[in-house]
Formats: sequence, structure tokens, C-alpha cells
Amino acid sequence: MPVTHANLNISPSDTLSMTIHFRQDNDDDPARPIPPPKAPSWWKTCTCYQIWPASFKDSNGDGLGDIKGILSKLDYLHDLGVDVIWLCPMYASPQADMGYDISDYNAVHPAYGTMEDMEELIAGLHNRGMRLLLDLVVNHTSDQHHWFKESKKGKDNKHSDWFIWKDPKIGKNGKKEPPNNWGAVFGGSAWKYVPERDQYYLHIFTPEQPDLNWENTTTRKAIYESALEFWFKKGIDGFRVDTSNIYSKVQSYPDGEVDSRSAPYGSCFPYIVNGPRIHEFWKEIRSQVLDNYGDPMMVGELGGSTFNEILKFVSSDERELSMVFDFDFAALGGLHTKPFHEITGYKLPELKTSLKKTQDLVANTKAWSSIFAENHDIPRSVSRHGTNDPKYHDRAAKVLAILLTTLSGTLFIYQGQEIGMTNIPESWSPSDLKDVSAINYWNKMKAKYPHDEDMLQRAWKGIVAAGRDNARTPLQWSGESNAGFTTGEPWMRVNENYTHINVAAQMEEKDTVWKFWRELLKHRKEHMDVFVQGSYLVYDYENEKTFTYQKKSASGKMSFVVLNFSSEECTFRLPDDRKDLEILISNVPNPGRSLQPWEGRIYIER
Ligand code: BGC
Repeated sequence: MPVTHANLNISPSDTLSMTIHFRQDNDDDPARPIPPPKAPSWWKTCTCYQIWPASFKDSNGDGLGDIKGILSKLDYLHDLGVDVIWLCPMYASPQADMGYDISDYNAVHPAYGTMEDMEELIAGLHNRGMRLLLDLVVNHTSDQHHWFKESKKGKDNKHSDWFIWKDPKIGKNGKKEPPNNWGAVFGGSAWKYVPERDQYYLHIFTPEQPDLNWENTTTRKAIYESALEFWFKKGIDGFRVDTSNIYSKVQSYPDGEVDSRSAPYGSCFPYIVNGPRIHEFWKEIRSQVLDNYGDPMMVGELGGSTFNEILKFVSSDERELSMVFDFDFAALGGLHTKPFHEITGYKLPELKTSLKKTQDLVANTKAWSSIFAENHDIPRSVSRHGTNDPKYHDRAAKVLAILLTTLSGTLFIYQGQEIGMTNIPESWSPSDLKDVSAINYWNKMKAKYPHDEDMLQRAWKGIVAAGRDNARTPLQWSGESNAGFTTGEPWMRVNENYTHINVAAQMEEKDTVWKFWRELLKHRKEHMDVFVQGSYLVYDYENEKTFTYQKKSASGKMSFVVLNFSSEECTFRLPDDRKDLEILISNVPNPGRSLQPWEGRIYIER
């Protein structure tokens, strides 16, 4: 791509640095051969929609979403343009971490419904030509799973080494201490003492989520049978794989370094992320399980992984996972590395850079990636990457929709994103929180800074900007009471802005965020070669207001996307020699020579 095409609203001195970025964009490793275009596979070209069952739709008035509620909305999802549903954990669970603590992989959480409901869901989706992904949570179980209950009883039963048990360390004062200094992700030590065994067990997340011992072959076989095969036999089409790169731990369990997020404990991540046997385990899963069920979609949550580390999981040569959930974009500003009060905003060039990894994986390697901005752990994208100014809410949500639907990879939309649902407001209080990580963090800050109002304000603002509760409020279906989510008392407070941000209104009115998403999803399918599989080239890396990039198919078909990420009018320029471009879609009624605040448009070759 000649640099002379990079002729945007920038000064000549910026051009040099832009040239350098261009080279970085495609030439990370000039020796790396560019593989031939990939044959589309069903899981590469589909549009996925993530459902958080507690907050999607309540069918029986108990205030909690359920599977029958999901069944009642399948036509809605089909109409929006969704092909695949990723359903977050609906398994039997005491709900210490909203279902990511599973007590029985082969049973349904009674408040969500029954096994018959699940069978109906699988059939209902397949009848509509849609598919289902479940959440595979096998780094840990619940402490109420019978495997753990048995394991806890002693050192000589069938399940005794199915979890990670270690002898206490004896401290200077002669007291028993945890085997190392690791902190748990949601606060406190990562070890819990059990008197029956006079040992500690490892829990990377809450104490109610003991880590399984993947070193044990029998345990692995039981996991495969119970968590994977049971559901493949029922007909599901794949899994979103929770924490898929932390099953294998460094067996010496050394102390970790204390950093600002882990303090006062040590960080376990260097010893659990992409650990020594992880690829052996995934290759085993592929050959012993996945190969028996065709080509299922396996989407691995691979937090904290570099480009090359990701390739080892998702390159088609490796035969491990189908694609990655990479967090460079979604976790901008330190979402996953800093405590809430230290999480910051970021500048637009960082957003552009954050997308490079996934776009390069899709276009220039034998690997594949997902593309997403929201999920149940991440704040709402319009609040985080858009604006809180109600005047531009809709436009900003549409700008983000353009961004996501024109990027390469398999698109995931999170429930409520299609209407631009927002974060919770600052006026709420800590008693409204439901998420264990936010609640633990808030209690820790209150204990540490009981009289420091400023610090507690910072902590609260951090939770409101970055906490997981933001994404978990009930879906806003209508302007009726409780946003039409339930006829009962909702399990979690409903965001009051449902009176104007809701599905019913947006399906009815003109030019809404919902209608825009639906149209964009159609364009994405129609121009799959460009938007789903094309290469990505940024034109204005340094610009802090506009984001201009080119998408190009393997056969050379081009599209240019121009987005204004600011509340100011901005100039932009397209390549001079491209007179054959037309606007495919825009989020303003009369797109002119400059970009209006939060305007976005897609140009495509005629
Ligand atoms: C899930 C979280 C969950 C954690 C433990 C994550 O990555 O997305 O919601 O709390 O794994 O299972």
C-alpha cells in the first residue's frame, strides 16, 4: 500500500510516523509467508450473540431470567441477524460467581429451567438454522461439586487428587501458612485451608471455585465425559471456553511478584497462564473429544497472551481451539491489569493499535479470531468507548456498531449492545452491586480507607466505570415496568434509562441503534470477503479524533471506514485516486464533506 494514499487531515510531519505505522501494520515479520485465502467455515462467518441468562428475559415472574424466556425471544434474535447464541453458564450451581462455579455439569440450574428446556432450546435454534454454544468452565468446579466434596474428605479416596492440594508452609511463628503467596483474582489468598486434610487447596477465583488438577489423567477423562461429551451428544455446536489457557500450572508453585493489582499477595499469572502442559491438554481434547463431533466452534478466552502465544492455540495447523477471545481492545485502559481505582481512559490511537493483533491474525496467519467489545465481564461499550452525553448516545453506539461489523473475525454481540445499553449511573450505591469481584473490592477498600472519602469516591467511580455489574443489569425490552424484563421483583436493579433505551421503542421508531445494527449485519454478510475476512489498514494512527481504515478482500475489493470518535466536527480525506467509492451506510441523515460529531460511514467500491 503506497504511503501516498495516507492523505488525511494531518500535518506533513505526522506523515513520517504514519509511514512507520503502516509498515508495522503488515510487516511484523517480513519473512512470514502470507497464506492463501481461507475457505469460509460456518464458525468463521457467523454472527454470535451472548446471553447472560439471569438478565435476558424472565418467563415466570420470579425476577430471574430463564431458558423459557430465551425461547420466547428466538425469533427476535433471528430477525436481528444472529446465527449463533453463546449461552453463559446455566448449569447447576450455588451461584458464588453467577454460575461459573458449577456443581453438576449434567444438570440445569433449577431457577433457569430444566433439561427439557435445554433440549427445546437446541431444537428451537436448529429449526431456525441457528446454533448453540455453551460455556465450558473446567479450570475449576464449585466446592459443592461431588468431586470436590469427596476430595475434601481425605487423602485416600478416589477423588483425593482431583484438585490441587498442598501442605501448609510453617511460618516463623510456627503457624500454618498457605503454600505460597498467590492472591486470588477476586481478592484474598488463592489458597484455603481444610482441616480434614490438614492441607490447602488452590482457588484462582473465589474459595467456592477450587481448581481442578489437570495433571491427573483420570480427572481429565472425567472432565471430557461430563463437561464436553454429555453436551455434544445433546447436539450443541461448540463452546466458549472459560479461562482456556490456565489449566496447566507450573508444578513448583513458586511465590509470585507483588504488583498493584495483586497486593498484598503475589501474582499467580506467570505460573498459570499458558503453562507448561497446556498445549498437550488441548491437543488431547481435540483428538479424544472434538474430532468425534465434526468441526465444533471452540472459542478460547486467552487473556494475557501475545500474538505468538495465541497462534499456538488457534492456528489451524495446531488443531487446538477454533478462535481466540483477545482482550487488547476490550480491556483498554488497564481493565484487566489494574485495580478499579487505577483504571484510566485511553487515547484513540491506543484503540487503533489494540485491534492490530486480531486483525493480523485473521488476515495474515492460519489462525482465526473473534471480534467483540462487550461481554459479561466488561463494561458497556458505548459508555467506555463512546460518550455519556445523551445528545450523542445513539450516534456513538452506531459508530461502535460500524467498527465492530467491519472488522475481520467472528463477530460477538453482547445482549443489550444492539440497543446501546449503558453502564450503571454513579448515583447508584454499593448495595446495588451483585458481582462478587466488585463487592469484595469495595469491602477491601472500605476496610483499608475507612475515613478517606476521596479514595472511596475513586473506588466507587472505578466500579461504575469498569465493574462487571455494568453489563449484567436486566435487558431493557420495553418502556413498561422493570423494562419488560420481569413481572416480578428483578434480581438486579434495572437501569432507569430503560424508559428511552429499550428494544420495543427501537424496533418501532425510525433510525434507531437497533435498526442500524440489523442493517449493518446484513451488509456484513453481503460483503463477507471484505468485512469478515479482509485485511485491515489504518490510515490515521496518530489522530486522536478520527479513525479511518481500509478493509480489502483477497480479490482486491476495498472498503473505507471513517469514524469520528469526538463531539466535534472533523475533516477527513479519502485516497485521491478513489473516485469510485460510494457510501454504503452512514449514521447521519446528510453526510457531507466533513464528519459531524460522532459520525461514522462506510464507503465501498461501486
Ligand atoms: C469468566 C468470568 C468468571 C471467571 C471464572 C472468566 O473469565 O468470564 O465471568 O468469573 O472466568 O470462571
